[in-house]
Amino acid sequence: LAIGMTEPSGGSDLAALKTSAVKDGDDWVINGSKTFITNGYSADLIITAVRTDPEKGARGISLFAIPSDAPGFSRGRKLDKVGQDESDTAELFFEDVRLSEEHVLGELGGGFIAMMQKLPQERLGCAISNVAHAKQILVETLQYTKDRKAFGAPIGTFQHNKFLLAELFTSIEVAEAYIDTCVIAHDKGELTPVDAAKAKWWSSQVQNDVLDHCVQLHGGYGFMNEYRVARAWRDARVSKIWAGSNEIMKELIGRDLGL
Ligand SMILES: Cc1cc2nc3c(=O)[nH]c(=O)nc-3n(C[C@H](O)[C@H](O)[C@H](O)COP(=O)(O)OP(=O)(O)OC[C@H]3O[C@@H](n4cnc5c(N)ncnc54)[C@H](O)[C@@H]3O)c2cc1C
Repeated sequence: LAIGMTEPSGGSDLAALKTSAVKDGDDWVINGSKTFITNGYSADLIITAVRTDPEKGARGISLFAIPSDAPGFSRGRKLDKVGQDESDTAELFFEDVRLSEEHVLGELGGGFIAMMQKLPQERLGCAISNVAHAKQILVETLQYTKDRKAFGAPIGTFQHNKFLLAELFTSIEVAEAYIDTCVIAHDKGELTPVDAAKAKWWSSQVQNDVLDHCVQLHGGYGFMNEYRVARAWRDARVSKIWAGSNEIMKELIGRDLGL
């Protein structure tokens, strides 16, 4: 399964998406393209956001369930990424893909609202994994700083590094506490899009800051791909971009502040 929202012309302004579905008899005919789609290279089914009414802006967007064997559907190459090697990411193309009405998912014209309703859950999921990812590497880094010696002493005992590690553990645990409140709110069906945005941007910033320091604490070994810390650092970078960039998260929060 893959979720196709982002297009080559832009991902942040989702309401401006261009891939279109035009009614032809009883069928819909879909044309356009998507990019950066996780699992796009291997998915059998692509939930695709498509414009069904060019006049209605966000209310003219619908979701289609598009099987990968539909005539007119094709995939580009597997995109070459900086990190996240375990998942494939691809461009998808739709050329006169003809589908019956039953491929429309949910309400016609309700696609944008459905995405807005579900994106907070995705962003909370990102927040949880951002912090868990950084915490595990931080725990391993702490051990490294106890084992690795310089100037005759474990590097973690130098006051600079000791204070730095104290700060990094603090920032992880403070982030965890906020995310825990979001998980409880989500469980009750009360997580707001704004709180999910706060959890997403903050956790990805903490994750990237922590992992950058972890690389530094490993010295040259931290830059070697055979060390987990190096891969974690590469993998983390995208968390500030995907699922709605951190700038878009701050835009949502800023709007909630009445700005
Ligand atoms: C590895 C990976 C996997 C992905 N998986 C998926 C997927 O499965 N499905 C999917 O649909 N998408 C996926 N994406 C796409 C991702 O969600 C988009 O890359 C993201 O939303 C940003 O869109 P864009 O790349 O078009 O950047 P743009 O929208 O062109 O933005 C470029 C820059 O401008 C900034 N910007 C834009 N608008 C504003 C504003 N109003 N104020 C301030 N700054 C602004 C952005 O924050 C960004 O820094 C994936 C991306 C990557 C890298």
